Amino acid sequence: MEIKKGIPVSPGISIARLLIIDSEDYRIPRRPIEPSQRTAEVQRLRDAFTNAVGELTRLEAAQDQTGGGKIKDIFAVHLRYLHDRSLRKKITDLVQSKLVTAEYAVSTVLREIASHFTKQQDAYMSERAADIYDIEKRLLKQLLGKKREDITHLTQEVVVVARELSPTQTAGFNKQFVKGIATDAGGRTSHTAIVARSLGIPAVVALEDLTEYVRGGDTVIVDGNRGIVIVNPDEQTVRQYEQYSREFLELEHKLDALREEPAVTRDGVEITLLGNIEFPNEAQSVLERGGRGIGLYRTEFLYLNSETEPTEQDHYQAYAQTVKVFQDRPVIIRTLDLGADKYTQSKRFVREPNPFLGLRSIRFCLQNLTMFKTQLRAILRASVLGDVRIMFPLITNLQELMQARMILRDVMEDLAEESIPYNNDIQIGIMVETPSAALTAYSLARDVDFFSIGTNDLTQYTLAVDRGNELVSTLYSSADPAVLRLIRTVIQDAKKAQIDVSICGEMASEPEYIMLLLGMGVRTVSISPPMIPEIKQVIRSVTLEDCNKLARKVLGMNSERQISAYLRNAAGKILPEAF
Ligand code: PEP
Ligand code: MG
Repeated sequence: MEIKKGIPVSPGISIARLLIIDSEDYRIPRRPIEPSQRTAEVQRLRDAFTNAVGELTRLEAAQDQTGGGKIKDIFAVHLRYLHDRSLRKKITDLVQSKLVTAEYAVSTVLREIASHFTKQQDAYMSERAADIYDIEKRLLKQLLGKKREDITHLTQEVVVVARELSPTQTAGFNKQFVKGIATDAGGRTSHTAIVARSLGIPAVVALEDLTEYVRGGDTVIVDGNRGIVIVNPDEQTVRQYEQYSREFLELEHKLDALREEPAVTRDGVEITLLGNIEFPNEAQSVLERGGRGIGLYRTEFLYLNSETEPTEQDHYQAYAQTVKVFQDRPVIIRTLDLGADKYTQSKRFVREPNPFLGLRSIRFCLQNLTMFKTQLRAILRASVLGDVRIMFPLITNLQELMQARMILRDVMEDLAEESIPYNNDIQIGIMVETPSAALTAYSLARDVDFFSIGTNDLTQYTLAVDRGNELVSTLYSSADPAVLRLIRTVIQDAKKAQIDVSICGEMASEPEYIMLLLGMGVRTVSISPPMIPEIKQVIRSVTLEDCNKLARKVLGMNSERQISAYLRNAAGKILPEAF
């Protein structure tokens, strides 16, 4: 039994057989073979090496024609590994002595070598590790190629383990079979974590080297509440966790009973709870959990889930489906936030040195006007169906906002010319998720109807900490005094300008922050659907006076540690079951 600690990102407990996948969804089965199959298995291995060498030699030769010197060097390194007799022998010996499949042996031996390189903590060595993973992938492609299984067509319950998962891969999981997720990489607000939470799949990330300890077929427990993963648990641990899982479900059930109750503090202040969604079919679950509308619809998932670019009609149908659930309650549609860790199929291979600081989000839209206008047309068409609002992400300055508004105006004129109805008074807002937007909120406020504070990115950009990088995850905290000061500024400036302000970052979905946010003046939050009941429970257990007192105290503190400990302690007293 091996216990690993990571970051809990999606609550719940799961116990299932483990399935390791890599970035291209290869499954690596641990199937024992019969002694009589040894020779055939070794032959498969030989063939895989021969074919991989053939493939690489062809690729290397093609580089001669195109003059790709650097790439040619990389292929040459990979070829050297594939010709290395001792490597082949090691893999073959494993098949023969342990009676395991060729793919399992390839994966085990190459991962051992890669992990040796990774441990050196040196840029050159990590590149070598990346080479080894590439070679593993090439060999697996030969061995599994035609049998490559689509993870979306599973037939058994599994816990998916991977070094890293993209939001696109995660969004494709079938939650009937994928019961848990555990990854080496990632952070609390990485988009993969957000998708896992929205699908309701228990998940733990930032386990650093979990993939080196596990083999496909191991049993694993994912504890998404405490951030623990247990590999090959003993019977007593399994029983304990089954009990714990029942208790957790009972707590959820108890909280579900709050569905019809208002989110009102003990001294009578009503708070609006909205939901964050990635897919239109989640709108129903927001409603069922007591959400009063959609505060953030991450529309870029329409692009991530499909091989082809969505049409205007695809957009329209998704928005219409969502609005239908909420009728005249708000549905805030965020325009595409592509780039950074979320790519369209066509942009997938365009690597940027610093993608989170690169051509992302509104910047990407402003450079891809046809795509942007297609989406705006669909949003405007859907605006006559209910209370649809538009929100522009990652605004960093007034000029960007003006450009986006101008394009929206153009699209409105086009629709008017075509006699297509739309709401001319549609509310327009921005996400405040960069320090520059927060610091100029007083001026941006004059040109929008509302602000929604995106604390996931605001934290990342304020503290210069990549939200998805497990190596710096301890530095990533929305409780940092710098982040809190920016949030306070935005709330104050919104109030002065008399526009609405809400929080839609993950901070609002965490019970320890809600009292602080109310005390800072927030009256609307948009949260991850599974967290709605818990947040409501905290709101119903406090008075605004308590929250104000807490906020005054916290805003006077100057260390993140002190603030986090204080907030955790305060929330733990209100909702002990959740901690
Ligand atoms: C945020 O940055 O806080 C946010 C809500 O947007 P996303 O998580 O999609 O970047
Ligand atoms: Mg964001």
